[in-house]
Amino acid sequence: MIKYCRNCVYPETKPDLTFDEEGICDACRFANVKDTTDWESRREELVKIFNKFKNKDGSNYDCVIPVSGGKDSTYQTYMVKEEFGLNPLCVSYHLPEFTDLGRKNLENLKRLGVDCLEFTPNPEICQKMQKIALIEFGDAQWPEHFGIFTVPVQVAVRYNIPLIVWGENPQAEYGGPLEDSTNSYLDSKWCKEYGTRVGGQSNSYFGPEVMLQYGIDRKFLNPYIYPPDDEIKRVGVTGIFLGSFLKWNIKNQLEKVRELGFTLHEGPSEGTFTNYENLDNKIQGIHDYFKWLKFGYGRSTDNASIQIRLNWINREEAMKLVREYEGKLPEKYLNEFLEQWNMSRDEFFKIADKFTNKELFKKDSNGNLLRDELGNLEKTNYDNF
Ligand SMILES: [Zn+2]
Repeated sequence: MIKYCRNCVYPETKPDLTFDEEGICDACRFANVKDTTDWESRREELVKIFNKFKNKDGSNYDCVIPVSGGKDSTYQTYMVKEEFGLNPLCVSYHLPEFTDLGRKNLENLKRLGVDCLEFTPNPEICQKMQKIALIEFGDAQWPEHFGIFTVPVQVAVRYNIPLIVWGENPQAEYGGPLEDSTNSYLDSKWCKEYGTRVGGQSNSYFGPEVMLQYGIDRKFLNPYIYPPDDEIKRVGVTGIFLGSFLKWNIKNQLEKVRELGFTLHEGPSEGTFTNYENLDNKIQGIHDYFKWLKFGYGRSTDNASIQIRLNWINREEAMKLVREYEGKLPEKYLNEFLEQWNMSRDEFFKIADKFTNKELFKKDSNGNLLRDELGNLEKTNYDNF
């Protein structure tokens, strides 16, 4: 029996999530903390930080903003530039497999009036690493977890820009130890501890250097290796989460970014019932699917839980949506990736089975996982009964 939070729909099998004696998870508890936070004084603190780091004579950028083709990036850039009057350098690390919608939204973001550096990694190496990571760690998106956290920090070091403005604190929205949720600063320790877990995926930390063991040359690992601590110190690189200073509310945020020309998905994105996430990245569906196999939850659960906390939907509706949308094979781009990886569907299923937590899913009398005609698994239970 999988136990679920009594307020949202998170299962106890989600890494780093804890339940209190009332059966409520810490992501829900933090939502309450957000309601009682003095956001006015947080905002003042943010203004102080921005004043401290602002480039005084215009000879350099005021900060780095790591961006993608997603809604948070547009929101961050708008807030930093228009609300607080800074001149940011936007830095986008994205995969060769960028969706058309991701491209459209990134171009729209640039039209907010910012300079933007785009970094795409060597596709051949990236594909090799995705395949290795899928087979070894059950996470094809693994190289990207490093790239999105590392490249903006490398740019900050090389351009001598000390401030990096990240978006939400993923620990706050998605749950994790409460003390981490109130931490505004990001350092290499944070990157190591949480950077690879952002999708709630990896139980243990495998640094990029692990790829040396699989025959990837050191010279190809540069986009994935965090700058040395002395370099970070020399420039004074400091990371802050905007979500620690401004109340992060998806509903308001969506309204704002749509006004700014951000385009949503037509119909639900893969693996969920919403149309506002997972727009820019083809490999996300495969990542989310493996998260479901390993931990019994995916993007639908993430989205539904956040919507419950915002009183957007109730728990009953959330459960219905999760049952309907979650855990489906990520067919949309699967064939494209299998071709790139030179991998058969059978091999893919074998890897999927290897990483599936068999305790969470229905099995036949011989103990083999039960799949429906589309190849999908069913969980043993979807609620606390
Ligand atoms: Zn909860």
